[in-house]
Amino acid sequence: MAGNTTPVVGVLALQGDFREHLAVLAGLGARTRAVRRSTELSEIDGLVIPGGESTVIDKLSRAFGLAAPLRDAIASGLPVYGTCAGLIMLADRLIDAPASQQTFGGLDVTVRRNAFGTQTDSFETDFAIPELGAESVHAVFIRAPVVEQSGDAVEVLARIPDGRAVAVRQRNLLGTSFHPEMNDESRFHELFLRMVAARR
Ligand code: GLN
Repeated sequence: MAGNTTPVVGVLALQGDFREHLAVLAGLGARTRAVRRSTELSEIDGLVIPGGESTVIDKLSRAFGLAAPLRDAIASGLPVYGTCAGLIMLADRLIDAPASQQTFGGLDVTVRRNAFGTQTDSFETDFAIPELGAESVHAVFIRAPVVEQSGDAVEVLARIPDGRAVAVRQRNLLGTSFHPEMNDESRFHELFLRMVAARR
């Protein structure tokens, strides 16, 4: 763990929109680091897993020897925030994933990949998330997953109208089906930085 006063927040930079997350975090005053190797895990106080393609993030993280150490770090309490593919990577159980696909896990949820089908590849909507303040959250969904089932320890922060969850938190882990890093919505990253500070 970094010893300085300002926490270092890593962004998993194997694939996907990691640059956008680095920019949001830097804008909030965090020290940031792109993470590609297992040795870098000891130099961060929290980790963001970006949106992208979870099957690719899975394959690359295993090929780079990062998957097992990251799984251990999550189990030891490393704060991690996953958006979209990142949420998929944090899920303990997947629906509509190739049989060979693995996740880092940690979130006691069942996540359905590409839950909105090809007819609705992407869409945007607004939510009230009281936890984040009075102003509603504008959410961008792109080939988005959805949380179909969650265990008792999981706190649901937002649901779509059919009742399925799209923002969840469990202890050190935060996940959203959508991409706050794409539309100047920094309150999830602020919430995550509070989780990182609390852990330290
Ligand atoms: N559908 C992608 C996956 O399964 C996630 C899409 C995204 O991250 N925007 O990994």
